[in-house]
This record gives sequence, structure tokens and C-alpha cells, in this order.
Amino acid sequence: MKREIFESKLPDLKTSIFTEMSLLANQYGAINLSQGFPEFDTPEFLKSSIVKAIGDGKNQYAPSAGMPDLLEQIGLLIKRHYQLAVNPKSCVTVTSGATEALWVAIQTLVSRGDEVIVFDPAYDSYEPAVELAGGRCVHIPLASPDYRIDWEKVADSISSRTKAIIINSPHNPTGTLLSQQDLIQLTKLVVDNKLYLISDEVYEYMTFDGLRHESVLRYPELFERTFVVSSFGKTFHCTGWKMGYCTAPAYLTEEFRKIHQYVTFSSFTPAQLGLADILAQFPEHTLALNDFYQAKRDFLHTALSSSRFKLLPSAGTYFMLVDYSEISELNDVEFCHWLTKEKGVAAIPLSPFYQHSSADKIIRLCFAKNKDTLKLAADKLSLL
Ligand code: PMP
Ligand code: GLN
Repeated sequence: MKREIFESKLPDLKTSIFTEMSLLANQYGAINLSQGFPEFDTPEFLKSSIVKAIGDGKNQYAPSAGMPDLLEQIGLLIKRHYQLAVNPKSCVTVTSGATEALWVAIQTLVSRGDEVIVFDPAYDSYEPAVELAGGRCVHIPLASPDYRIDWEKVADSISSRTKAIIINSPHNPTGTLLSQQDLIQLTKLVVDNKLYLISDEVYEYMTFDGLRHESVLRYPELFERTFVVSSFGKTFHCTGWKMGYCTAPAYLTEEFRKIHQYVTFSSFTPAQLGLADILAQFPEHTLALNDFYQAKRDFLHTALSSSRFKLLPSAGTYFMLVDYSEISELNDVEFCHWLTKEKGVAAIPLSPFYQHSSADKIIRLCFAKNKDTLKLAADKLSLL
């Protein structure tokens, strides 16, 4: 019997570059500096707290918005870092990773025919979510080496169909940060044009050289129109648990929760209890992350200083960009494949994060690794 041709809703979508490169790294036994995840473990206290919750029988559904203890701790965390008093009962929703929070925020905002402004290189989960909601991404490319946003260009890209802007700071993959001046200009555009904002802040506790993370939670007028997305996976070195949350004003949270309850209903109860516990017992954890990751960035930077790679500044995240134009003529995807297969180090090319590819010879390295691993990788890269 002839099979019916199935019409894909996302005909152009390929397997994510993170999956592709991690698979290749495993296949060739390469050091994996590609997909972003820590090589070191989540804190022992958090592990035993979750095990205890499981042992104590805390194994049934959490309330859809999140366990009350965790919501309370998130409220305190936001107050500690950003001096904003939000009511977590009505403004915070615990999600299955930042990915779910982004997905739900996009479904909450975007209707058929709406446009959403994104900045390339853009994290790969935004566009499929916008398209499945019937919307369209309007891409504004940012240029190396500083990847600054030209707000006049953004103003010119706003049309009567524009519904939202998605920002990401600290930025994956470039490691750049939005400044206070950026946030001021963004506030004006969002408020004047009655737009909404999704602010992907999953690397919020990883900024370097004394630079402050300009969370939207520091800008009350902008926050009134924003979904702020956070990830416990990044903050507590547990990306595999897929735990995150979304902070938004009550009127947006109410709509967000309508969709969240039919995407997952609720997230893993024992992890919620463990996270509430560690936030209460070790509030200093989030304050120490900047120095922890800055030391890793500096270690990799020094270890690569005599290589032929040109190192771009990393002001935040656990990523660093390097320019390989002195080493190879290959395009970035080919270069990453070659590097993994022939030289034993896996990295992420940047062109998959652009609508119209990128001719830059720049790749991303993840430094959320132990020193031995970073040293080994840097030794290999320094031979090129
Ligand atoms: N946004 C960005 C910019 C990311 O780098 C990640 C990490 N994968 C996510 C969202 C998703 O985070 P999570 O793993 O918590 O879903
Ligand atoms: N955010 C991670 C990165 O940038 C990957 C997440 C994923 O594999 N989906 O590498």
C-alpha cells in the first residue's frame, strides 16, 4: 500500500547542532567543548535533599505553579539579586527547564500572523516555537566581534504585526552582556510600541570582571510587559533535570499558567523540594558562581594564549568564542567536524544560529569543564 505523504509542520528544521556535535564527539572520543553542560557534579547537598524527598514519599504531583516552598525561595532569590519584591504566588511559575518556560511564554504571546524580533546568533529553540504558534521571526543579525544591538535598527524593524522581542543576556553563544543603556533603550521601544518581551536570562549568575547582569527584573516598567526565563540547570550544574522557572507580572503569569498546565501540568516534585532546600540553606551559591566561572574562563584563555586562535572576549555565560581564520579556510560547520574527527576537540559552529548563515570563521567553546579537561583541549588546539 502506498503511504500518504506526511506534511511536516517544520519542513526545514534539522536536528539541533548541540545533539549533532555531542554525538560526533562521543563517536570520535573527542573532548566535548560543544554542547553546553558542566562536567562537574551538582552539589552533594542538593543530591541528598532530593533523595531524601523521594525516600520521604514526596513523589506525587506538585501544584501546577510550583511547590510553595520553592516559589517562596525564588521570591527571596529575586529580592537578593535584583531588589525587586515580586509576589511569587502570582508571578513565578516553576517549569520543566527554561525550554518549557520559553515555549509557554511564546505560545502565550504569539498568534497567527504575529512577528517576533530575534537577534542572530539566536538560541535555537525560539524560532520553532514562534512558527508553531503561527508567527514569524524577524531576524536582526549582530556582527562580530562585539555583537552590539543597534536599537535604531530594531525600531526600524517594528511593524504593526510585531508582538514581541526576545533578548538573551548573558548571551549564548557570544558571551556578551546587555548594558544598562541597552535596557533603557529597549524599555522605550517596548513601552512606546506596546510590545511584549521575553528575556532569556538562564546565565544570569555568570558574569565576569565585576560586570553586573542587567536583569529585566531591575527595570520595573519593562518587567510589566516581560516574561523573564531562568534555569536551575545552569545555576546548580544539573542540566539533565530540566528545572527552570518563569517570572512575569500577575496578568501575564495567569495566561502563562493556562498553557503550562496543559504542557506538563507540573515539574518533578522531589527536585522542587531539593532546590527549595538548597536555596534556603546555601543562599551564597548563586553569589559565588561569577568567580567560579571566571576562573575557568581565565584558565582557558591563558591556556590558549599562544595558539593561533584569536580569542573573543567573554563577559558572561560559560562560553567563549574563538576565531580560527588563521588556521583554516573551512566554513565553521566543516571546521567543527574536522576538529572533532581529526583533532579530538568538539566545538559549536555559529552559523546554525543565523537565519542567513554567517561567513565568520568563529566557533564556540564551552568552559564549564574541569581544569584537566580544559588543559588537554587547549594543548590540542594549540598544536593547530
Ligand atoms: N536558553 C539558552 C540561551 C540556553 O543556553 C539554554 C540552555 N540549554 C536554554 C535556554 C534552555 O535551558 P534549560 O536546559 O533549562 O531548558
Ligand atoms: N544550551 C545548551 C548549549 O547552548 C544546549 C542545550 C541543548 O542541547 N538543547 O549548548
